[in-house]
Order: sequence, then structure tokens, then C-alpha cells
Amino acid sequence: MKFTDIEGFLEDFASVVNMDSASGNTEGILTVARFFEKRFLRLGMDCDVRMPGNGKVPCLKATMGKPPYDVMCLGHMDTVFPEGEAAKRPFEIRGDQAFGPGVCDMKGGLLVALHALETLKDTGNLDTLSVCVLFNGDEETGSDQSRPLILETAGQCRHVLVFEPCRPEYRLVSQRKGGGWFRIEVTGREAHAGADPHKGVNAVVALAHLVPLIQNLNNENTGTSAHVTVFHGGDKVNIIPSRATASVDVRILDPGEKQRVESFFAGLHQKRLFKDAQVRITGAIDRPPMAETDQSRALQELITTQAEQLGIDMKAITTGGCSDGNFTASAGIPTIDGLGLVGANSHRPDEYVELASIPVMVSLISRVCRELTRKNG
Ligand SMILES: [Zn+2]
Repeated sequence: MKFTDIEGFLEDFASVVNMDSASGNTEGILTVARFFEKRFLRLGMDCDVRMPGNGKVPCLKATMGKPPYDVMCLGHMDTVFPEGEAAKRPFEIRGDQAFGPGVCDMKGGLLVALHALETLKDTGNLDTLSVCVLFNGDEETGSDQSRPLILETAGQCRHVLVFEPCRPEYRLVSQRKGGGWFRIEVTGREAHAGADPHKGVNAVVALAHLVPLIQNLNNENTGTSAHVTVFHGGDKVNIIPSRATASVDVRILDPGEKQRVESFFAGLHQKRLFKDAQVRITGAIDRPPMAETDQSRALQELITTQAEQLGIDMKAITTGGCSDGNFTASAGIPTIDGLGLVGANSHRPDEYVELASIPVMVSLISRVCRELTRKNG
């Protein structure tokens, strides 16, 4: 099964990249959903465009066969680029790369999934497949509205393929860190710094005292990182500050670290320097890690074996960034991410994909889908 219709892919690519679909742009995301719906219907799939949660986030579900599905193809239709961006810098090919808003993250990936299924159809393999496509519209803002739908759908599937960008040199993503944000507010007491500082309780000093304790959460062995990334406090140079706030970015790779980190923050107020300072802490590890399991390693091996047959030496990486793969993996469904086009610089104007990866990734995904069906057939 080899994919050769590069021209057809590029034509679709230009169409989809030139549709503005920032998170929150319901109309724009719906336009993208309708584009794909039309094509999946043509393949004989059952399609359903719905707006879960607040009714403003279009999501497309397309299925072939009945649950449990062998394969879930997961992707997002929203981008980080505002309305008007596509008109400003439309889809463009320069040399052996393509540019445009969302070209890498992840409209190219959505088209890999579509064209892989079309390839399976053309070769008579689609009918034997049980596959479920889910494209959501709020990944870039944390998938708040679509998360229940993602989890419900993943629960009907045996394997999840996520079409976030493939990293240069064909590096897929086998692990993603999870994490969350914590916020610390310290309230002390104001006082004149010159006349009567002893009447004050310095909130900045109290908060600063906690920073090295937070830094100690970092643990290279478990892959946990914790960093104070925002720190505010004080207002006037001659006043003992009564308020200070900090924000902390925490990432974990080991699911067990959630408990350790959360109980650390729950007990942090007890470590305060001044008994008169009040310490308030909010936040949680609300994004679970996408951790490797025996099953996900088996899926990864199946993918890299198929890539080998296409002459590609595919390896896996771990990344600190989250995707919807974090949710499907934490629900216990073997998940491999980074199966979109090879590219880089996501969320930036110089975002690009490598055109040479189009036939490779489409062929690869159609082979992987076929193998996953055979395995269960
Ligand atoms: Zn993305």
C-alpha cells in the first residue's frame, strides 16, 4: 500500500490551511469539520458533527464498523492563530517545505488520517476495518468542552493514534508529561519600612522562603519538574509588602507523582516563615501523563516495524508538552502520538512541514490501520 496522490493531498492541504479555525472560532472550526465530514461520508463512514459541553466547540466523529473499534484516529481542528491569519499568510510551498497557519499543528496530521483511510478504501481494505475518527475543536485551549467526548470515544477503541506533528527525523511521541499549575498567595501586613517595620509581616520574604522548597520537587529520576515561573509582590519601596503571589508550572511523567506533588502543596502553608502570614494555595495536577505501558510499547513497535518496511528508521521521544493523547493514555488505551507530518515551529509564523513526509506518513498510517485490524481479526 503506497500513497502517491501528492497533488490531491496538496490541494486539500491548501483548502484546509486557508480556513481560519482558531480555538473559539465556532464558524471556522465548523467549516473544517464539514470539509472532513464530506470526505468521510464519501468513504461510507457514519458521521456526526456535534458541539459537546457549551455548544460552541464543533467536534467530528466518523466511524466505520461497530465498537469496539480497532483504531481511533484523534486530532484537533483548532489552531492558535486568530481570524485573518490565513488571508495574511496563506498556504504556501517553498522548496521542499509547506507553510501556513496550522500546517504542522495539525492540519497536516488531519489530512494524513483522511488520506490513509482513502488509501485503504482504494485498495479494498477499508471495509474490513473498524475505525473511529475523532476531530475536536478546543485542544489548544485544553479540550475543556471535548474531553468527556474524547474519553467516551477512546473507551470504545483498542488503540489510539494521535496526529500531532511528527518530529524531525521521524520521531514519534511515545510519552508526554502531564502536569498542572499551582498558585500561591501570601498575605502579610503592611507597615512603614522606615518608621515601624516591626509592625509589618513581609509577604515577599514569606513567599520567597517557599521558593527553594518548591525547587526541591524537581526530580530527574522520576521526570518531575517544578518551576516558579511568575512571582509578584510589593508596591512601594518604603512599605513592607502585605501581598505576594507566585505561579508554579509542574510536569510529571510518573502517574504516581501526582499524589506526591499535590500533598506537598497541600502542606506547604505549614512551612511558612512567619506565623502571622497567611498562605493560600490553589491548583492541581489536572493533566495526567501519557506514560508508556507494555501495550503502548507493542503499538509503538508495530508502527516502527511498518516504518522500517517503508525505509524509515522511526524512533520515539518523550516531550513535556500535553496533547489529547494524555487523556486517552490515562484512560488505559494504548496511545502513540506524533503521527502527523514531519515538521516543527508549531504556534509560530515560521511553522513548516516537510513535503517528503506526506507519502511516508500516509502510507505508514494506512499500513498500521491494516495491521491493527489483522491483529484483532
Ligand atoms: Zn496540536
